[in-house]
Amino acid sequence: MADHRELAKNMDLFHFEEHSPGMVFWHPQGLRLFRSIEDFMRQVYQNSGFEEVRSPIALNRSLWEKSKHWEKFRQGMFVVGSVEAEQDNESDLSIISSDYALKPMSCPAHIAIYQSRKRSYRENPMRLMEFGICHRNELSGTLSGCMRLRQFVQDDAHIFCRESDVQSGVSNFLKMVKLVYSAFGYEEFSLQISLRPGQRLGSDELWDKAESVLIKAVESLGHNYNLAANEGAFYGPKLEISLQDRLGRSWQCGTIQVDFNLPQVFELGFVNESGELERPVMLHQAILGSLERWIGILLEHHNGALPVWVAPTQVAVASISDKASPWAEKIVSRLKRMGIRVELHNQDRTISKKIREISKRKVPLIAIVGEQEASNQSLNLRCLGAREQEEMSLVQFEEKLADIFPAF
Ligand SMILES: [Zn+2]
Repeated sequence: MADHRELAKNMDLFHFEEHSPGMVFWHPQGLRLFRSIEDFMRQVYQNSGFEEVRSPIALNRSLWEKSKHWEKFRQGMFVVGSVEAEQDNESDLSIISSDYALKPMSCPAHIAIYQSRKRSYRENPMRLMEFGICHRNELSGTLSGCMRLRQFVQDDAHIFCRESDVQSGVSNFLKMVKLVYSAFGYEEFSLQISLRPGQRLGSDELWDKAESVLIKAVESLGHNYNLAANEGAFYGPKLEISLQDRLGRSWQCGTIQVDFNLPQVFELGFVNESGELERPVMLHQAILGSLERWIGILLEHHNGALPVWVAPTQVAVASISDKASPWAEKIVSRLKRMGIRVELHNQDRTISKKIREISKRKVPLIAIVGEQEASNQSLNLRCLGAREQEEMSLVQFEEKLADIFPAF
């Protein structure tokens, strides 16, 4: 089994540099992979009633003080200082204040969107999601490829709702988790409920309520779970989902958290049926967690041979001879029109060399065409890792490809 960094090198996906520890340099093929996952998740969230938003990555310190991140999470944040030149001496620059911090998560930004105008009970549950660019100042010794980074994109979602909506929020979250994890080839996952940590916000009464609402929601769905003391977020208890990979390793990826505290700290409210101001509950959720880490785990789980629907290049079309080149080009343009990520190999090289090079990059499907296939309007399909190939018409191949995307 190869390490994801080794696979990424062979597949030309991304690399790391010493001058940006814990941050990824995405190559064209890698960004295609990243985007295909992002597009899929966008669809999943949209189908579950979430609206996508985008918020700044740097937010003023006063906001972090209010959200208590400054107090409880400061060592994990990158603080941005303002630099000003001393009078008449531009070489003497000094940092005069630390006004901003890069967001380690998007919660306060989504709260700002919620608070931007008056809210009504009719908007409940309000579901916001963002592919949020987050920074966390992890210790350099703990950084490990994509598995632990300082900069990453998280599918960061928040639901503003009533206490009576928590159960359906948790149930929808688990439905989304099942759909997404099986689309990526994971069949097994386990649940853990993480309870109040030592360092936390709010009263014990609110924690009692948040923990019992979450436990009740999970139990009513008939799921088994483990309880873990002290491992909740500082604002609320968490349900954490760990998937099992092919090597028997367990990775905690998805999470949903019940939060009565931040709505209180930020004095959130919506106007209820009787015209009074009522406080919402917040659910914080992520299905993949860090997309970069998700990609690292996915590469190792499949040893680079990703499911066709997500692969950065899905089909390589390789011609055996110059005379077959126009037909190969025709196939490529037809597949592109379908939205398939396809590449053409028409260069003057032997077909075995082409196949070797394409297979090294783990392209899942190779369509091989010679003069005979050109006159038959067909192709020979070879799947990654297989020795045999199967002849089919281009129309048959297109039908096959139309079926590769996960059903919702
Ligand atoms: Zn959050």
